[in-house]
Amino acid sequence: MREKLTNPEHVRTWPGSIPVEYVYTAGVAGEAYLRAIKERGRLAASACLGCGTKYLPPRLYCERCFEKTGEPRDVEARGTVETFTVAHRDLEGRQLEPPVVYAFVRIDGTAGGLVHRLGEVDPGDVHIGLEVEAVFLPPAQRTGSILDIAHFRPVRHRPAAT
Ligand SMILES: [Zn+2]
Repeated sequence: MREKLTNPEHVRTWPGSIPVEYVYTAGVAGEAYLRAIKERGRLAASACLGCGTKYLPPRLYCERCFEKTGEPRDVEARGTVETFTVAHRDLEGRQLEPPVVYAFVRIDGTAGGLVHRLGEVDPGDVHIGLEVEAVFLPPAQRTGSILDIAHFRPVRHRPAAT
């Protein structure tokens, strides 16, 4: 393995699979987060009892002042695009048509956010600061995963009533 890569398309790959079984537990705060998504179509955040920092996903302890946080509470699944990228190829190098937009969405009123797909938007119209909202799968299709959110889409502001 002494090859020096100067072109990322020349990466050598060996298709195959490695059988791995594992059980991942979300933890107390993580479970509250996933239940809010699955059961209520909301996001949950926990606020530090010391400094008030709101964590999303929720945490049990504040990483800034080490105080405990309160019970996770639902927050609106809305936020702002903080950064994004447009993927034109998948992991195997196949063309993605249409391209897929991935964004880090800062959730309103919290110090946190999540990386997810953007949808219902032209990639050329995506910009930092774009206001977006989560689109959840129908309740019967939700499994308790972050993918119960189909994507985030731009918030459509209604014209002011005259
Ligand atoms: Zn704190």
